[in-house]
Amino acid sequence: MKSYDVVIVGLGPVGGTIANLLALNGLSILILEREKSIFNLPRAVHFDDEVMRIFQSIGISERFARYTIINKGTKFVNADDEVVLDWPRPRSRTINGWYPSYRFHQPDLERQLRRSLKDFKKVSIRQNAKVLKIKNIDHHVDIVFKDTQTNQLHSVESSYVIGCDGAGSTTREQMGNKLVNLGFTQKWSVVDLILKHDNNKLADRTIQYSNSKRPATYCRNVGRRRRWEFAIHDHEDEKEILSDKYIWNFLKPWLQPFEAELERKTIYTFQSAIAMKWRSGRIFLAGDAAHLMPPFMGQGMCAGIRDASNLAWKISLCLTNGHNEKLLDTYQSERFSNVKEYIQTTMRMGEFINDIGTSKITNNISENSDGTMSMKSIQPELGPGLGKKSDKNRGKPFPQLTMNNGTRLDLKFAKQPVLLLAAELKDNELKSKIKSFYSHQVVGLADLLNYYNAKAIIVRPDRFILETCPPSFNLNEFIKNKLNELNIV
Ligand SMILES: Cc1cc2nc3c(=O)[nH]c(=O)nc-3n(C[C@H](O)[C@H](O)[C@H](O)COP(=O)(O)OP(=O)(O)OC[C@H]3O[C@@H](n4cnc5c(N)ncnc54)[C@H](O)[C@@H]3O)c2cc1C
Repeated sequence: MKSYDVVIVGLGPVGGTIANLLALNGLSILILEREKSIFNLPRAVHFDDEVMRIFQSIGISERFARYTIINKGTKFVNADDEVVLDWPRPRSRTINGWYPSYRFHQPDLERQLRRSLKDFKKVSIRQNAKVLKIKNIDHHVDIVFKDTQTNQLHSVESSYVIGCDGAGSTTREQMGNKLVNLGFTQKWSVVDLILKHDNNKLADRTIQYSNSKRPATYCRNVGRRRRWEFAIHDHEDEKEILSDKYIWNFLKPWLQPFEAELERKTIYTFQSAIAMKWRSGRIFLAGDAAHLMPPFMGQGMCAGIRDASNLAWKISLCLTNGHNEKLLDTYQSERFSNVKEYIQTTMRMGEFINDIGTSKITNNISENSDGTMSMKSIQPELGPGLGKKSDKNRGKPFPQLTMNNGTRLDLKFAKQPVLLLAAELKDNELKSKIKSFYSHQVVGLADLLNYYNAKAIIVRPDRFILETCPPSFNLNEFIKNKLNELNIV
């Protein structure tokens, strides 16, 4: 039977990202994808700076950026067309080194992810391959899939399986696992259009139409692409709602049929749900297979890409360094509360858009001097896991820094943890244990160490802070302990 380090079920954005991250570590990977080509129904159109930084780590950000635009933000308007809340997204780079918010076309991203996978000899992609059975057997996993063109069954084995197979995940079902409904369920119609000419009448940002009768969303997408989404009621006829006649009637306040071409249209049930167990032995869930949220914040896929970034380096350490597999339990413990905060915030936003919300969307809402209200993005930290709980810097995203030779630290150490020190380490024995030592100075490091009140910082491969060494601690002891914990050598 053919054997792999990792089998990935599903080649959506999450499967594609984790495959790239694992491939960078030289692992042998088989990706099994049920469909023959990229999914072409309207889905994600927004992602954030943290996600672009992950794309940077797999080398696609510069190329992919050409297919994106920087998002200006969202305005929420009421039934009288008055702005009730503004959620601006500043056009300045964040600590992650990228803009806070981008617009994109999901198939463009999926094409980039697939293209970069072609560069890895140890990555095989098998399309028309529907996974049927997944079973933990001692130190490996057995997988059975069907070639949907020939109907033939095939078996392979791997050290780990990652189920990135979306909302109806077979992996989740094979783990004996279910999604728990967190309370938001509503049917929405989603319509993608391509304008025939530039149209300055349409808003240059997202508009959420907060309305109890027909909540709706307008998205300013890349180029001439525009999207409208609107809630539908259970008693309404889905076929009629999706008819061109109905759609153009709905679009009347903004567009006439001669101004745009209807590209894609569908009806989704927007849901909030989470699986309680993301790991069973050597089988893991990531992305929509593990959690679902309505798209109002544009964070569903982003959450899945964050899962990929958290899990990939941990699995790689286990496979390449023989790290204790307990490390893999920190995947769910760190990601669960982070994604849950996004789900709950999105649910409150959904209530606000339905004009039934009683609680504030976030605590980040404040009144401007002119009486209008503004919201800031949330930035949930990692849940408990690696690093010391008592370290208040632990689990925070570490800024993307540049070395004094101009190289970005993230690019130089794309796959590794990094130990940053105020001054060169004196202890030669300890120094010899660290794989590579660079005496390049990092621009802005002194200020940063000051900010974190630390004499050393350990940054994880996914660019979160593992731990900082307070000024009163013994630096050598701190480093020795962490070297053992994380196999930094
Ligand atoms: C209208 C809408 C708007 C959205 N907007 C945003 C947004 O702006 N920003 C954002 O971050 N998110 C957004 N989302 C959410 C986002 O699209 C999803 O979170 C994302 O696509 C999930 O990626 P995934 O890789 O986990 O799963 P999927 O994209 O669903 O991919 C799963 C893959 O697994 C394959 N598969 C399934 N079962 C099997 C099997 N048994 N064997 C083999 N292969 C299998 C499928 O064919 C599929 O290719 C939106 C969603 C919707 C519906």
